[in-house]
Amino acid sequence: MAETIFSRIIRKELPADIVHEDDEIIAFRDINPQAPVHLLIVPRVEIATVNDIRPEQAELIGKMVLTAQRLAADAGIAEDGYRLVINCNRHGCQEVFHLHLHLIGGRQLRGLAGS
Ligand code: 5GP
Repeated sequence: MAETIFSRIIRKELPADIVHEDDEIIAFRDINPQAPVHLLIVPRVEIATVNDIRPEQAELIGKMVLTAQRLAADAGIAEDGYRLVINCNRHGCQEVFHLHLHLIGGRQLRGLAGS
């Protein structure tokens, strides 16, 4: 897959407001936040889209969700709630082709109907 801007953030070639890092996952604030809390949870390994996730990467995907769970708690939004989103390809409005989980919250979100 073609390298994306997220690979450069992972390699620290570009700045980002990083809120979590471990061997497999990095999380940072979205540059164009849609809510008071808008984080991107990103695997270090380059996976272009949800369509490209392999069965042996199931544990990694689970870790992304658990990282989101912890970051939501850290941000103080777990009780009120939040949204986890992965966009895929054109109809999903994916812009960056390096898999990432959006954690969005900190305000009342609208329903998905019609979005
Ligand atoms: P997608 O539409 O691919 O699911 O979401 C890509 C997200 O990455 C968008 O919400 C966009 O604002 C964010 N983004 C794009 N470029 C950068 C960047 O250079 N830094 C950060 N922190 N976020 C970015």
